[in-house]
Amino acid sequence: MKVKNSNKRRLEKKIFERIRILCFNRHNKCVVCGSDKILQAGHLIPSKSSTTLRYDLRNIFTQCRNCNLIHRYNQAPYFLWYIKTFGIQAFENLVYLSKIKKKYSTKDLEKLLQELTIEVNNLKMKL
Ligand SMILES: [Zn+2]
Repeated sequence: MKVKNSNKRRLEKKIFERIRILCFNRHNKCVVCGSDKILQAGHLIPSKSSTTLRYDLRNIFTQCRNCNLIHRYNQAPYFLWYIKTFGIQAFENLVYLSKIKKKYSTKDLEKLLQELTIEVNNLKMKL
């Protein structure tokens, strides 16, 4: 059991490394305030409350550390940016998806890592 969990953690770490690359490629500044200092990949709908959107790039965008921290107690600025950019229907769709529970098996995570690695490699070829 312990081995399995540490394997999942290792996979998740690699998944988030790739998510960060893809996220920063899409926006190289904080989407909320425009800062380019201490950038992070921030979940719009927190990954703790939504397992479905945990690794979903539709729910993860570039934020500065400050805006990412603020988002914990004031979600309005990030939500507003999202709605202005993608529209209310896209936002409603995310909220809908966030309510679906998903459990990731090691196999699921391996598949996801593989898909993200291909995306990152495609990105490198374009550069
Ligand atoms: Zn910011």
